This record gives sequence, C-alpha cells and structure tokens, in this order.
Amino acid sequence: MYSATKMLLNGHIQKRRIKCGKPSCRCTKGARHDAHYHVWHLDGRRYQVFVRRDQVPEYVAACSLNRALTATLRAGRAEYKRILRRSREMLQTEKT
Ligand SMILES: [Zn+2]
Repeated sequence: MYSATKMLLNGHIQKRRIKCGKPSCRCTKGARHDAHYHVWHLDGRRYQVFVRRDQVPEYVAACSLNRALTATLRAGRAEYKRILRRSREMLQTEKT
C-alpha cells in the first residue's frame, strides 16, 4: 500500500534511558524514561535527532526500508559488474 508519509532513513533508531529534567517528574527519583533517537553518520560525523514516541514505528520502518534498498542496490551493482566483465571477456574472445 502506498503511503504519502513513507520515507527512507539512513542510520538506525536508538533507545535510551533519559531524565527529562522536569522537577515534578518521576525520573528525578531515578525512574528514567525511554527516549528514542534517530542516529546516523555522514562524512565522519555523528548526527542524532529526538524521535517522538508516536513516530517511532514509522522511523524504525524507514530505517529498515533503507537498509533493504541499500542491500538490493549493492546486489544489483555486483550483478552489473559481473555481466560487464563477462561481456568484455566475450568481446576479447571475438577480437582474437
Ligand atoms: Zn521525566
């Protein structure tokens, strides 16, 4: 099914235990929250962005979709190189 919100994301979703900083919150007494971050690397730098709880499934899906697509492209490139090599070998054979 096509979804307008479907996206591709590099990197992964990381779950962390945090203190939110609100003085009235239970986390001040040690019960930390689960917080999710989208983490990715670009040009040797690490980036992270907070992901809202209700958006976590969508972000997780976007990361795995990207991983799957990357794997498919890599496999396609390997196949392309293999065919190209084979074609060159055949051309070489014809010339001699
Ligand atoms: Zn808190």
